[in-house]
Amino acid sequence: MKRQIFTPGHEAFRETVRAFLAKEVAPHYARWEEDGIVSRDAWLAAGRQGLLGLAVPEEYGGGGNPDFRYGVVLAEEFTRAGAAGLAVALHNDMVGPYLAKLSTEEQKRRWLPGFCSGETISAIAMTEPGAGSDLQGIRTAAEDRGDHWLLNGSKTFISNGILADLVVVVARTTPEGGAKGLSLFVVERGMPGFERGRNLDKIGQKAQDTAELFFHDVRVPRENLLGELNGAFLHLMANLPQERLSIAVSAIAAAEHLLEATTRYVKEREAFGRPLAKLQHIRFEIAEMATECAVTRAFLDRCVTDHDRGELDAVHASMAKWWATELQKRVADRCLQLHGGYGYMTEFPVAKAFTDGRIQTIYGGTTEIMKEIIGRSLLS
Ligand SMILES: Cc1cc2nc3c(=O)[nH]c(=O)nc-3n(C[C@H](O)[C@H](O)[C@H](O)COP(=O)(O)OP(=O)(O)OC[C@H]3O[C@@H](n4cnc5c(N)ncnc54)[C@H](O)[C@@H]3O)c2cc1C
Repeated sequence: MKRQIFTPGHEAFRETVRAFLAKEVAPHYARWEEDGIVSRDAWLAAGRQGLLGLAVPEEYGGGGNPDFRYGVVLAEEFTRAGAAGLAVALHNDMVGPYLAKLSTEEQKRRWLPGFCSGETISAIAMTEPGAGSDLQGIRTAAEDRGDHWLLNGSKTFISNGILADLVVVVARTTPEGGAKGLSLFVVERGMPGFERGRNLDKIGQKAQDTAELFFHDVRVPRENLLGELNGAFLHLMANLPQERLSIAVSAIAAAEHLLEATTRYVKEREAFGRPLAKLQHIRFEIAEMATECAVTRAFLDRCVTDHDRGELDAVHASMAKWWATELQKRVADRCLQLHGGYGYMTEFPVAKAFTDGRIQTIYGGTTEIMKEIIGRSLLS
């Protein structure tokens, strides 16, 4: 089915992204997976190519284009290339909006040019050892000390945790305030008391650095409060739909890509004297997955256009996120099965896609939390 949402401008951008991935990412990716981290040079190359800060106004070094479909193209191509370790979608779609929309003029001038050039790699730190799905349990706290905030606590599972130069940290500013007692702070590399833990060993996304962060009496200048004091929850609610949509978009791209590869494989692989593709069970497997992908694709493209019009609500973003990521998980499992023993070998892309994709139903809000959001909106 021909997709309706892209213009020739988006398709030209797709070619640029593909060329970037072929030149700057593919030749190095195996080494990054061994190292557990991508090189800073790749971030700088992405900046030079104009892939960072697509929506950031041009005066701060960005692309000046708020059209989210460019971000969709980027997410799709990075996913197809199996290059999630270079977390450009996280930087652009998840951290970018906080820095671009909530910042003062002075903060924009300080942070956005580096954000767009790739010199300043970003991260967002919400999750703590004792608080993931339930952000009200956040214990990292910032105490008002007049000319600065004194930050203490720790975060875990933070993507870009080792590389990040700038981390948007959610911290408690009002002890008894519940969800209304949280604020956002920008913590920068080199601030005394800001330390990283180990680069966590994961089952997939091996090139992505995911780390613990520690804050011991970090003096965060007053000018690094981002957005409203005690306003973090509202800021998160405003930005999480885009984060969830971005994950959903990468999920359907991964599922479609796996299905293409598996369709090729079952046409070539022979058993009982003929290609697997001639067996009715195999044809039904492919038919079912193709149908599920096509239906999901139509819903997601609709969500993307709604989002561009400012009309995507939290409920539909949650539907998109849980549905597309669970589909990705099912498709990865079935495609691996259709590869037989070869599917279990790491040299086969389906094996990497299986482990790389497993996180998708967990981060950005778990499937269960997405269903809670949807159910609550329908039943309260
Ligand atoms: C590779 C990776 C990268 C990540 N990157 C980031 C990042 O950059 N920044 C960041 O802040 N965090 C990040 N995370 C953290 C991620 O967002 C959390 O792991 C996720 O939100 C779940 O929180 P938790 O791990 O504490 O699980 P828990 O909240 O302890 O949940 C455990 C299980 O209980 C279920 N559950 C919890 N509450 C309910 C409920 N009310 N109803 C039904 N079921 C429920 C959950 O769905 C889950 O299945 C990352 C995690 C990973 C693994």
